[in-house]
Amino acid sequence: MQRISHWVNNKVVVGTSGRTGKVFNPATGEQQAEVDLASVAEVDAVIAKSKAAFPEWRATGMSRRAEIMFRTRELLDANRKELATFLTLEHGKVPSDALGEIARGIENIEFACGIPALMKGGYSEQASGGVDVYSIRQPLGVVAGITPFNFPAMVPMWMFANAIMCGNTFILKPSEKDPSASMFIADLLRQAGLPEGVFNVLHGDKEAVDRLLVHPDIQSISFVGSTPIAKYVYETGTKNGKRVQALGGAKNHMLVLPDADLDMAADAAVSAAYGSAGERCMAISVVLAVDSIADALIEKLKTRVPNIKVGPGTDPSAEMGPLISREHRDKVASYINNAAGEGATVVINGTDKAKDAGFFLNPSLIDNVKPGMKCYDEEIFGPVLTVMRVKSYAEGLKTINDNEFGNGTAIFTRDGGVARQFQYDVQVGMVGINVPIPVPVSYYSFGGWKASLFGDQHMYGPEGINFFTRGKVVTSRWPDPRTSAVDLGFPTNR
Ligand code: NAD
Repeated sequence: MQRISHWVNNKVVVGTSGRTGKVFNPATGEQQAEVDLASVAEVDAVIAKSKAAFPEWRATGMSRRAEIMFRTRELLDANRKELATFLTLEHGKVPSDALGEIARGIENIEFACGIPALMKGGYSEQASGGVDVYSIRQPLGVVAGITPFNFPAMVPMWMFANAIMCGNTFILKPSEKDPSASMFIADLLRQAGLPEGVFNVLHGDKEAVDRLLVHPDIQSISFVGSTPIAKYVYETGTKNGKRVQALGGAKNHMLVLPDADLDMAADAAVSAAYGSAGERCMAISVVLAVDSIADALIEKLKTRVPNIKVGPGTDPSAEMGPLISREHRDKVASYINNAAGEGATVVINGTDKAKDAGFFLNPSLIDNVKPGMKCYDEEIFGPVLTVMRVKSYAEGLKTINDNEFGNGTAIFTRDGGVARQFQYDVQVGMVGINVPIPVPVSYYSFGGWKASLFGDQHMYGPEGINFFTRGKVVTSRWPDPRTSAVDLGFPTNR
């Protein structure tokens, strides 16, 4: 059985805890590897290595750091396909989807290459007589990232690119369900010339996370995962004096107005709901269809959904792969199987596919969902598109704003005025106008509102730089004997 171990000081380090996790191939349902799960002592040892590497890395010139980041970008570019194979093998996503994830991740590396230009401070000459004032941004120290299973390559890149370019040393605790991508990326960073200890990978579960959350030498925690764990990570991390950004789960609505191009809306809803088997935090989960076009839209969805080709990523014609685990597949199936009992209409039931050895489901479509039903109230995170019928734009907007989550949303309309009003009123962090998955480009920042984000800094882009640096303001006067005198009054500007 293949064993996946930690990455410390640019080398593979075999775990000593005696605890391992199982890594499955979701397309076959078989275990294909075991991954070491770190003990508290192992976490402490990695933190010590990261701390030891920090002073030299911080002192490394920005242009040298940028040079390493540029080389990382070239190596990632040259190895896209190989990295994608790990995603298909362990996560299950089909190659086109895996390559899309990697492309979006590389954008964050490209952004980080330009960070020297964005870390410039301000300078005020002669703020007072002979006094200049200027601001600088400095790295935090050892920072940690804890990532989910659904983007094993991209989400780590959201975090470490900015973190290390800003001069921090970074510990990645990837999902234990698909840990190989992080090891592959770690080796590319080594090849790019990153010094030992600047990027370490620690595999583990709650035990490792809990230690990172309380260890005094960890300065910040970046987390992406489900809402209950995000909340826990935020509360525990901040209670222990750390800076925390914790991105949680989602329930993304797409509001389709009567004037929308319904074919375009149906194509977009199907792509955004079933891509990556719905295991995306920006997946469209609920279509809000205004009554007058709801039947027509459902008809268009009904003709498209059965055409989706479900299969393993090794089949070049497959468009949608399996779910991450047997347990998750069964949980998703339970939402579909219980929906009719709650009063919804199951238009297409994809649970037959659950008989396969791999963790597959076919796409499902559920109409007439309402708040109070489990399939509406909870994040499903699977290939299930639900439709809620609303009377008007106003009811659609209220439904979105009443939902506990606020990650992404989209409006489909040809009316620019209504779209503008929607962007103004909607209580959601990322908004698409005729764009179903509005993941911001890398020079903006990613993050939701409400139960989709705990903390006040979004991830990557400019807010990522703020998160991974601390501001310092220097007030400076060069000694000038002509102006020296004792003065016990509070310093004022003269
Ligand atoms: P998860 O919360 O189960 O796990 C995320 C990370 O937390 C993993 O590294 C895991 O090892 C760790 N973890 C799990 N349980 C823990 C516990 N009890 N204590 C401490 N650490 C724990 O999430 P997941 O199933 O890997 O990922 C899917 C979830 O992530 C979905 O809810 C999805 O919406 C969310 N997600 C959100 C975003 C976003 O940007 N908002 C992006 C991707 C995924």
